[in-house]
Amino acid sequence: MTLKAALRDGAQDLIGAGAGLWPLSILTRRYFGRRIPIIFYHAVWRSGDPRLKLFGGVETGSFERDLARLARMFDFAPLDEVLSAPAARGKSKVAITFDDGFDLIAGGAIDVLRGFGVRATVFVNDDSWRYKRLLWQHAFGVISAMRGEASFLRAFNEIQRQQRLGARIEAFAQFIDATKAWPVGAFETAADEIWASCEMPPMAEFLSQHRPYLDHAGLAHWRRLGHDVGFHGKSHLWSKALGVAEIVEQYEAPARALKDLFGLDRIAFAYPFGDRLPPEQERALAATGVFSCLLGTDRLSRRGESPFAVDRVEADFGLVRHFFGRMLLRSLRRQDATPV
Ligand SMILES: [Zn+2]
Repeated sequence: MTLKAALRDGAQDLIGAGAGLWPLSILTRRYFGRRIPIIFYHAVWRSGDPRLKLFGGVETGSFERDLARLARMFDFAPLDEVLSAPAARGKSKVAITFDDGFDLIAGGAIDVLRGFGVRATVFVNDDSWRYKRLLWQHAFGVISAMRGEASFLRAFNEIQRQQRLGARIEAFAQFIDATKAWPVGAFETAADEIWASCEMPPMAEFLSQHRPYLDHAGLAHWRRLGHDVGFHGKSHLWSKALGVAEIVEQYEAPARALKDLFGLDRIAFAYPFGDRLPPEQERALAATGVFSCLLGTDRLSRRGESPFAVDRVEADFGLVRHFFGRMLLRSLRRQDATPV
């Protein structure tokens, strides 16, 4: 880590940890009162659950501490309420969301949510909730966890070379960026070939053994408990790579089917990787009438922004640093401590 990055992390941690303390709490309240605070996680597992190592995510204990911290400064509310809430003078509303459709019931998140009276939204992918396959990026994580980073990198780089998908990568963390240049058709076959060349068990067998995702029955149960279901793309691809027909195939058609399956008027949508479509295609997607919002990442939107332009902040790698620290520090840097 560079000195600059270490200093930045340190400053974010300091600001984040003090966000609820006077006098910083005055700025915190004012800042979040004028934003649309939406947080997202991926998976939550109990300590010792083997799926924590295979799929990443946060432990239930750490998730509970996050919600306790949030409860001191926010009121929890469902996503649609947070999107439409007016600017707040007192406590703001915050929405808790989860991406990639992990099993939040078996994993234990459901009990923590119930303890704080949170009504959350899970964004699901067709490939996973229908149990067709592991999402490709989860498959890569599982291979690395089970066979080691070096084996994964060997197989990944070999496929990239054979199929002329891109240059060598040197570390597991680089695979996400490397795949931004892959053509849409490459993901499934490349993931299957890398999986096979690392001598992984048959994927269907792996899926039935580990059950990482909420399936149809799980989603119905999740909804009966007062939570919402949103959509996150059929196969979790990069938006920028999609052509017109692929936008229908990846986003519009499966979202419409999911919306109809649960009898919803509209369905919330979170872009895979927060990768928004170009403006013209995004306007067309919003105009289909299927979606209630189109959510990106890495920013908290201001009150009054269109639900089709709102973003969220990831808390998997630390609520204090990334939600409180990073957002407040950005606001201080821009000198908009009293934003308009
Ligand atoms: Zn995702």
